[in-house]
Amino acid sequence: MANEDKFKKVISHAKEYGYVFQSSEIYDGLSAVYDYAQNGAELKNNIRNYWWKAMVQMHDNIVGIDAAIFMHPTTWKASGHVDAFNDPLIDNKDSKKRYRADVLVEDYCAKIEAKINKEVKKAEKRFGDAFNREEFVTTNGRVLGYQEKIDTILKRLGKSLENEDLADVKALIEELEIADPMTGSRNWTDVKQFNLMFGTKLGASAETAMELYLRPETAQGIFVNFLNVQKTGRMKIPFGIAQTGKAFRNEIVARQFIFRMREFEQMEMQFFIKPGTQKEWFNYWKETRLKWHKSLGMGDDNYRFHDHEKLAHYADAATDIEFNFPFGFKELEGIHSRTDFDLSKHEEYSGKKLQYFDHEAKESYTPYVLETSIGLDRMFLALFSNSLQEETLEDGSERTVLKLPAVLAPTKAAILPLVRKDEALTEMAKAIVEDLKWEFNVAYDEKDAIGRRYRRQDAVGTPFCITVDGESIENHTVTLRYRDTMEQKRIKIEELRHLIKAEVDVKHWLMKMS
Ligand code: ATP
Repeated sequence: MANEDKFKKVISHAKEYGYVFQSSEIYDGLSAVYDYAQNGAELKNNIRNYWWKAMVQMHDNIVGIDAAIFMHPTTWKASGHVDAFNDPLIDNKDSKKRYRADVLVEDYCAKIEAKINKEVKKAEKRFGDAFNREEFVTTNGRVLGYQEKIDTILKRLGKSLENEDLADVKALIEELEIADPMTGSRNWTDVKQFNLMFGTKLGASAETAMELYLRPETAQGIFVNFLNVQKTGRMKIPFGIAQTGKAFRNEIVARQFIFRMREFEQMEMQFFIKPGTQKEWFNYWKETRLKWHKSLGMGDDNYRFHDHEKLAHYADAATDIEFNFPFGFKELEGIHSRTDFDLSKHEEYSGKKLQYFDHEAKESYTPYVLETSIGLDRMFLALFSNSLQEETLEDGSERTVLKLPAVLAPTKAAILPLVRKDEALTEMAKAIVEDLKWEFNVAYDEKDAIGRRYRRQDAVGTPFCITVDGESIENHTVTLRYRDTMEQKRIKIEELRHLIKAEVDVKHWLMKMS
């Protein structure tokens, strides 16, 4: 399937099988805002839980909090969001379409990268088994030329953005002859900065109302609670505070389904460390977070690191874990070495000391911070798009299957009486549901022929189907069918719980990280 078709299929499948709906669809929807449906909410909960267990439960020096979305407005002055949380936007004068200037340039570079990939594929064909990718990309003249071009462009973009030289960003767009992707027009306005925070008001009357922002990240709720948590939890450095929750950004361009939303959810962890140890912890968290992703078995080649050229105002090192989405490699998670920027700023603006007293060294200092920040919705999209597969079976028929990691699948097993009209079978199937539902999310389905029911469960991503038939009544056995292989096994009803647990247990999956 071509990538664009694949992405369309992802969006329509997410709707058809009750995962993601457009928000307020009956009113024609709201741009870049989505609702999670009955299966989507379960998948989202399971992802959140898988993250929380890995971060909070498995680390005795990380605790979790749940801070409010509203925060005192000075928070956002101190954090730099009021002055610097901007995206460079550019309008096309002919089409009246608005774009992020940096994204236009990055997309241009992605096209050059596609040319590199084409060269690699050609060479792979030519050299067969003897092909060495690493050697090829570091020696082939054409590939080196393309790579140099990308590096030069991104370096210049990074520098101009860092220096707020927006005229040079426009000059770059013009020099590269970048056109409006929708219309081909090159008639651009100047580049302007646009603040991404949503404002709102707190208070009953217009005169006394206080201007507030909807938080654009969850991190600040952690920083302002740093001392409260440290003291009440008697935490010793190094320690972490994790939280998951909604964040809001008035994104300029939001056309990629749940990849870029205006209301989304983050899963963030701030790790407080001794100044000077940030490099070591940066590497530790890079490695640990990649292991978490890989534990889900979505293909190691689908991840890569992208170290930042342009660093945010608070960071001394930053990398993204990028995932191979249907529209190419894009940021899934950010890992940032934030120095003491946030705590120092909050100290300055609040007038309160936010320092840590090291009892052993008998000294106080402002801790440095290592942050891991992943978008729950982006993780959802990565999982969903990677798991959605079209297969041609041996008999030539097609099946659509959503091969979600069993630990995250919304429904773990569907219990199916072979014949609806046979009361003995339906009763037995319902009894199995009653028994299993204490431990797993299970479904009961009696409608349609068994083959169609299997296909329906494949498409919705249920890892196991349990079929109750005449033999079940005789000898207390059922057929267990595996979604991914379609293999069927006859097993004793008493064994069901144990067999399913072995495959869906968080422990079984998280152990892969060690
Ligand atoms: P991008 O460059 O894609 O705008 P960012 O670098 O601004 O992302 P961060 O501020 O580092 O993102 O936020 C951490 C994580 O939050 C991102 O890695 C991403 O997974 C998620 N995220 C950020 N913005 C959005 C959004 N608009 N919709 C969904 N998820 C988002």
